[in-house]
Order: sequence, then structure tokens, then C-alpha cells
Amino acid sequence: MRLEDSEAVDFHIHTSFSDSEASIHDLINEAAESGVQRISFCDHANITDRNKNYGSNNRFYDPAIFPSGNPGQKNFYHVAKVFDIFESREYALIEEALDNDRCVLTDAYDLESLPDRVTDPDAVDIEEEPVLVHNGIELDYNPPIAEASTLEEENEIVSGYNTRLKILLALAENRTTCHELYIGGEFREVEKQGIGFDVRLGSVHDVFVGGKPCYVKKDDRFKGLSREDRAEVVDLYFRKLEHLVDSEIYDICAHPSLIERNDRLMRSLPTGDFDTRDEQLSSYYSSLIESFEDSKTIPEFNGKGVERQEPGSVFWELVKERDLPHTRGSDSHRLGEISSRMEDFEQVEEGKRPCKPAK
Ligand SMILES: [Zn+2]
Ligand SMILES: [Zn+2]
Repeated sequence: MRLEDSEAVDFHIHTSFSDSEASIHDLINEAAESGVQRISFCDHANITDRNKNYGSNNRFYDPAIFPSGNPGQKNFYHVAKVFDIFESREYALIEEALDNDRCVLTDAYDLESLPDRVTDPDAVDIEEEPVLVHNGIELDYNPPIAEASTLEEENEIVSGYNTRLKILLALAENRTTCHELYIGGEFREVEKQGIGFDVRLGSVHDVFVGGKPCYVKKDDRFKGLSREDRAEVVDLYFRKLEHLVDSEIYDICAHPSLIERNDRLMRSLPTGDFDTRDEQLSSYYSSLIESFEDSKTIPEFNGKGVERQEPGSVFWELVKERDLPHTRGSDSHRLGEISSRMEDFEQVEEGKRPCKPAK
């Protein structure tokens, strides 16, 4: 996907279908009022073990919205945040699905099964230009590369993982009803067939330490690690990102500079050959940019980082310098964040705020 520079887009919006509380129609209204012309809802939609008990306090799984089907049921919806979609049991489910013609990955927006929530035409009042709404997905990218002891082994693991991920996405696209909606005074479906996802966001959220997923943004497990081990975590993170970009499985690589939000990990840089943290990050990002230059996957300028004055300092300077195609995503999780983050983007792009955060 290559984007028109002139178009105001936000391809990274979460809804109450995953970990946001905002409804689809409120979000569409907000986007329209903020002058955003094209959006996609990209809820977390990872495959998971259907027998896990997600309970009422797990906000990623609301049984009222996604009734868990029994194994023989065709429409089997399940949304849950899991950290490794290819643990053996889950992979077995993919294989089962291939045999049994069964959907195991959710379609986050099956309007037919959710009539009260989103299909009321009066619920959406677009006064000005219609907002173009795409069907998206945010899917974790987790090849278990920490288990490899040689580069060759790592490549093998990654290629096996990517194959399974492609099967998974193909399954999701074939077996779910996806919708492309044009909103223009009325809420209507113009296309309703197995068209798959228009916008696929790939994310590296976690690095595995001792076999356990650690959310790079904040996980406490990094606390007990030595400085060298923390530096290794950063290294693993960037290797995963590169694999993600090289795979071309996704349209967009979401929040590539996520790890910069973890002070503890950032403090473990630089190591070895570099004098400063920025120099080391530059080296990671330069090599990531080379991957982007050879890939159809483009990086996302993430709204949460911009809000915190952290648009991925060195990375975004390099993106600008190399004139690399990129996109914007508010990564909004509540109402008001699309509009506030779009303003933040404007400010950075008009040079009213520094791209590089104050240290
Ligand atoms: Zn994310
Ligand atoms: Zn997200």
C-alpha cells in the first residue's frame, strides 16, 4: 500500500471489539469531525486457544459480543490477546481449521451478528465529507527467534513462522465475512464478500525472555536483567521488526519505535561500538530502513508516541531524510484521541514541535 500524501488518514484505531471502550459509530463521527478522510479499525485479533478461560475481567474477550462456539460450529468467534499465536495447541487449531473448513480467527466486524451495536443508520451522522472506512487487523508478530542459536536456525524458524502466519491470514480472509463500508449520510455496506483485510498492521509488542512474553513498552520482567541482557532484548526487538518488514505479510509496521518508550531498556544502550544511545539507535534504524526500502510494508508514525513527544526520534529523522513512504496511525483507544493525535501530527509536520524529543 502506498498512500497519497495529500490524504488525511488514520489506519490504526481500536474499538470496543478489542481493548478500547469506544464504539465504531462514535469513532467514525470523531474522525469525520477531525477532518480525517480515510480510516481503518485495526483491532487486536489474534488466534487463541478456545479453551482458555478469558473470564469477565478480560477486556479482550466479551462473551456477549463473541460467543464462543463449540468445535463443530462454523461461525466461531474469539478475540483474545495472546502473546504467541503459534504455541503448539494454537497451531493445531489452524491445522484443524484447514481440515474442517472452520474459522478460527475472528472477524472483528461481523455486522450481521452485531445488529444493535453498529448498524443503526441514525447512529452515524456525517455532515460533511464521508469517511472511507476500511477493515483492518492488528496482529502480533512473534517468531520465536530467541530460541535460535545460529543465524541459519533463526532464518528457519522465521520462515516456518511466516508460512503459518500466511496460512492463518488466508484462512481468516476466506472464512470470515469482511466489510468495506462507505459512510455517507447513511451507514451502508457497498461490498460484502470474503474480501479480507484492507489494512494489515503487524506489531512487535513483545520480546520473549525465558520463554515468557515481555511487553517491550513496560514489562517489569526487564527489571531483574543485567545490562547486557537488556541490550540483548533491544537487539531481539529490532531483529523481529526486520523480519516482520522483510516478510511483506503486512501493509503497515505499527509503532516501530515502541521500544523507545521503555526507559529501562533505553538506559542499557549504548553497548560496544557506539558512544551514545542515539548512535546505536541510528544504526538499528538505518538497517530497518533498508528493509523498508525493499519491502511493500510501510512504517507507521504512531500517535501515542507523538503525544508523549516521542515520535521515535532518530527513526523519523531518517525516514524524512530518505523520503520513505509512511503512514499515520493514532492508535487511539478512547474517544478524543483521534482528534488530539491528528493535531499532534500536524504540529510535528509543520515544524511547530520537534520531531526529536528533549532529553
Ligand atoms: Zn500495537
Ligand atoms: Zn494498536
